[in-house]
Amino acid sequence: MSAESTKSGPPLQTSLSINFLIIGGGIAGLTAAIALRRVGHNALVLEKANKATARGFGGGVRLPPNLTKILFHWGLKPVLMRRALISHTMTFMKYESSEYLGEHVWDKGVLKETRGIYMLSTHDDLYEIFYNKAIELGAEIQYDAHVVDIDVESRQVTLENGKTVSGDVLVGADGELGVSRETVVGTPANGHPTGVAMYDTLIPSGELEDYVKSIWKDNAIFTAFGNNQAMLAYPVHDTDEIALQFYGPDEKSGNYGDEPSVYVPDIAKGLHTKLLSRMTNADKAVRISVRAHEDIEDWVSDDGPLVVIGEAAHPFPPGTIQATAMAVEDAAVLAKLFSHLSEERQVQSFLYAFQELRQPRTRAVRAGEFGNIFYMTLADCEETVRRDNGMRAKAAAGGRNVLEGLAGDVSRLWDEIRTIFGYDCEDEADDWWVRWGVLRERAIQRSSVIMDEESMLFDFSAMGVHVHEVEAAGDSDE
Ligand SMILES: Cc1cc2nc3c(=O)[nH]c(=O)nc-3n(C[C@H](O)[C@H](O)[C@H](O)COP(=O)(O)OP(=O)(O)OC[C@H]3O[C@@H](n4cnc5c(N)ncnc54)[C@H](O)[C@@H]3O)c2cc1C
Repeated sequence: MSAESTKSGPPLQTSLSINFLIIGGGIAGLTAAIALRRVGHNALVLEKANKATARGFGGGVRLPPNLTKILFHWGLKPVLMRRALISHTMTFMKYESSEYLGEHVWDKGVLKETRGIYMLSTHDDLYEIFYNKAIELGAEIQYDAHVVDIDVESRQVTLENGKTVSGDVLVGADGELGVSRETVVGTPANGHPTGVAMYDTLIPSGELEDYVKSIWKDNAIFTAFGNNQAMLAYPVHDTDEIALQFYGPDEKSGNYGDEPSVYVPDIAKGLHTKLLSRMTNADKAVRISVRAHEDIEDWVSDDGPLVVIGEAAHPFPPGTIQATAMAVEDAAVLAKLFSHLSEERQVQSFLYAFQELRQPRTRAVRAGEFGNIFYMTLADCEETVRRDNGMRAKAAAGGRNVLEGLAGDVSRLWDEIRTIFGYDCEDEADDWWVRWGVLRERAIQRSSVIMDEESMLFDFSAMGVHVHEVEAAGDSDE
């Protein structure tokens, strides 16, 4: 049997189909539409941009096993196998000197545990795959539909053109700067700049060909640790291109969706000339500021059925392994819970269950992702010397897995990665239903039986009074 997750068959269908109004048609919005349609709900997505802008220019996205296992359940394995690449290896080097530090190969045991595979893709490819699936399943997606106001109590949104649209449940999937997050929190909650930015672009792989051949076996994800900077590089688009992500100082603020504006040699100045000299033909990069956000306490509005998901709920630093994965996990969990919907009264408790399930997971994973960026870009110090020496020693001893068995933070990060990859969010949602949802339903049914019995008792006693009166009347007649 394959190591990958093998769940198959049609998902449980809701017995009460309702209308979900999804604000924002990025990855979270589209996958929420897919997941909700799969279980029998209606989904309307409102996206402020046009489709080409929403797809983005095509920067790299890593798809870890906790994400691919969900997509395989949704029947997307064949298209992913055609359009994404499978990666088994991470390669490490020093940014400034290009010294090779070693490699780490995902061994079969780890992948078997996770029941997924590690894949590499781009935002535009993934977007197209999700868009097509959502349409195939009957979701409605409206572009140029900019939501400017949300009236939670009346379950209605107003668009920039003055039109109003309503739904039974409102899902805020409009990102970290969207209107939903602010509506739920009650004040703007846009975080603050960290002074670091991620610069995202692509380069034809031919430009790096000789270098690629020597170091890029097995669709490796290549990480260069620098002094306050770092670079990630991995093949995409059938290996025709290399996705490049640089972390470095943020001179101006920027976001995904901005026009690519940064000339790569300008931001990769410290990179060893062997690589830097090949960067002149890279497309201009998009600057995405790394912003830090407070955790927001509530993901569900106090005023009614509005829930935030994806970046609107838990903004991740850009370019990290788990940002896209967490958005898709949110979508999958929301739909799993709502597959059990049988009565309107359950809506709010399912939304709170969603929050309860997703908050601890996303908080832990997000902290780890900040840790990874910190670790990659750590200024030269004793800790970086220990990290590098540990890897060199492992590599020299013939060890392929330089992350394993190291002392301190690297080892801790590696253990966390294994746990994060192994998580099955759909199983967690099923567990919630079995452990709490079903109990709650039974308790409600029991209390309604008691209430019915009480009302029947009341009826009986009323009849008793009536009988008594009749009897009394009969008595008196006699
Ligand atoms: C254009 C674009 C390109 C990206 N490219 C990459 C990439 O190359 N690599 C990578 O790792 N990550 C990329 N990301 C980020 C990635 O999609 C997220 O990190 C993550 O997957 C979850 O996204 P999300 O859907 O929750 O939020 P977002 O990706 O922020 O999507 C939110 C969506 O809501 C829409 N929206 C915002 N406000 C409103 C409103 N008021 N009314 C209606 N719609 C609204 C936005 O236009 C956007 O499409 C990109 C994001 C965007 C928007």
